[in-house]
Amino acid sequence: MTKVGFVGLGIMGGPMAANLVEAGYEVTGYNRSSAKAEKLAAEGGKAAGSIAEAVSAADVIVTMLPDSPDVESAVLGEDGVLANAREGALLIDCSTIRPEVSRAVAEQAERQGVRALDAPVSGGEQGAIDGALSIMVGGDSAAFAAAGEVFDVVGKTVVHVGPAGSGQTVKAANQLIVAGNIALVAEALVFLEKHGVDTESAFQVLGGGLAGSKVLDAKNKGMRERTFKPGFRIELHHKDLGIVQSAARESGVSAPLSGLVAQLMEAAVAQGDGSLDHSGLFKQIAKLNGTE
Ligand code: NAD
Repeated sequence: MTKVGFVGLGIMGGPMAANLVEAGYEVTGYNRSSAKAEKLAAEGGKAAGSIAEAVSAADVIVTMLPDSPDVESAVLGEDGVLANAREGALLIDCSTIRPEVSRAVAEQAERQGVRALDAPVSGGEQGAIDGALSIMVGGDSAAFAAAGEVFDVVGKTVVHVGPAGSGQTVKAANQLIVAGNIALVAEALVFLEKHGVDTESAFQVLGGGLAGSKVLDAKNKGMRERTFKPGFRIELHHKDLGIVQSAARESGVSAPLSGLVAQLMEAAVAQGDGSLDHSGLFKQIAKLNGTE
């Protein structure tokens, strides 16, 4: 039986680890707050009290952490994943982080005989629960091939997009498209409400034409009803737009709409909305119009 060590059992990592248990893997999970590891144990996995305990016997290690500094400390840090992984293990980092941190992880992993992939995901909590994530994978092709069976359990559309760090670059583009789309659906809702149109019918017909999108389908009801339970938190999307901005600057790319939507997301965080679902960006557009 393939042994999986799983680090980071939050909104995404929890159900991904549970699906691996369900598929027959022996999964040992570690999370900074231990209740989430206990939940994995109740689902048939094992709870570890430290990163070392989760990963030292693992054939495959999956990490699903919030941000670049978390990966730097939990993967590269003293007594982190790489300090404890056995030679020949495969490390799949599913966190959304800066591409250069993924490259640093791949370099240090290679020095220690560990194969590493950056494999950020898209599809949200429901995609994680359903094992239907889109996964954009950066790293060596042989490592990608070796990870195939694990990816098949947690993902539906899994594509190798290039060398180490490329998965993160593609994920940054993903986050730019999603944020822009949310902002436009929010703007359309304020516009429709101001005109007194029945917004449910409006989004029904808009969803069937060229204006339709997964964001429109998934988020218009919550915006109409002003319910913004996460899901994907604004503070995480704010982090991701920071990645977009700095990666665009590094490569000399002008991306004006990403700048605008990043500022709106910044305002949402500044006003205390960081823990809302990212569809809560609607509140910023509504405030601009005095219609919150
Ligand atoms: P989350 O905050 O729910 O989960 C992260 C988990 O990691 C938490 O349980 C936290 O306790 C744990 N953690 C933090 N530092 C740790 C450490 N050093 N050691 C062990 N555990 C630690 O976040 P999430 O929503 O699951 O997101 C995880 C990643 O996936 C982020 O990079 C996010 O951008 C990305 N993502 C999230 C979604 C979504 O819809 N939530 C969708 C796609 C991608």
